[in-house]
Amino acid sequence: MDVILYQIDGSLEVGARPVPKPKGDQVLLQVAYAGLCGSDLAIAEGGHPRAKPPLVMGHEFSGYVADLGERVDQGLEIGDRVAVYPILSCGDCYACRMGSPNVCQALGLIGIDQDGGFAEYALVPQGAALRLPSGVGLLEGSLIEPLAVCVHAARLSDLQVGDVVVVTGAGPIGLLMGQLARSAGAGKVILTEVAPNRMAAAQALGFEVVDAREKGGVAEVLERTGGRGADLVFEATGHPSVAPTLMDLVRIRGQIVALGVFEEPVAVDLQALNFQEIRLIGSRVYEIEDFCRAISLAAQGRVDPRSIVSDLGSLKEAPRLFALARAARVGKVVFEMLPEQEDFVSEEDL
Ligand SMILES: [Zn+2]
Ligand SMILES: [Zn+2]
Repeated sequence: MDVILYQIDGSLEVGARPVPKPKGDQVLLQVAYAGLCGSDLAIAEGGHPRAKPPLVMGHEFSGYVADLGERVDQGLEIGDRVAVYPILSCGDCYACRMGSPNVCQALGLIGIDQDGGFAEYALVPQGAALRLPSGVGLLEGSLIEPLAVCVHAARLSDLQVGDVVVVTGAGPIGLLMGQLARSAGAGKVILTEVAPNRMAAAQALGFEVVDAREKGGVAEVLERTGGRGADLVFEATGHPSVAPTLMDLVRIRGQIVALGVFEEPVAVDLQALNFQEIRLIGSRVYEIEDFCRAISLAAQGRVDPRSIVSDLGSLKEAPRLFALARAARVGKVVFEMLPEQEDFVSEEDL
């Protein structure tokens, strides 16, 4: 089978490997779609602390159940369409025992800590294979992971009906976060962004868009909020230049939810936090409940994850697609191993 391999010398290679055999509670998936994420780019640049080559990356994927290990007992059948919940937690640390495996002290992900979905076939534990309802296609299935990131952030936040929400960044996560905030009852959703193509993508989805190239867009956000700032800011860039602007984007006693992943510690103005009684919380990946809600929101058409996809391509096109994603001139890049089958009819088509 074809795979994209992150090699020991740090290079990316499109290579061949034997199709693995599932053992124990493992499920073999024939991968249909696998999304390319910022953390895959970080791995490919040698900047990920946990990823050890040789590795098949890819933690955002969907596919068909192709084979079952002898101890699979959760009702999965060959041919089932599934999305992959890629969390690997230890089950034993404080966080796991408190029921929050997403903040496990030894948190791992399929596709980072073990081989993932940039391949024609992938092995996952049975608990990671979540069946998709008939209204959710396999392309959408591969986008449940980033949507679940946003569902988790929204559920941790104090989002109220009518809130003015600012989302920093109109990349794939920002676009999903904005749609979700809108669907959860936000009164106004403003996306801040520096890249013109991403500004256009946000505009096409009906968001108010602020050009963040000028000091993070703070002045314009204040203008659009009657000088007050946002009730709620979702930080979805993980970019060090955005961190110092957050306290200026949010209103007095407002809330900031940090879901973007920062590669290094960044400066945060705790004086402003104190003087303005701002609440700042972190949001890390998702729990299984967020994943199930993301599937259900996609099934109901409350959010359209496909709207963030800008480029589809085969595994063989990996070098070009990685370069595209790195240039941030696109939305979500997704590898297509098995095009959507004709037997799938979305609810809209009925
Ligand atoms: Zn990701
Ligand atoms: Zn743990």
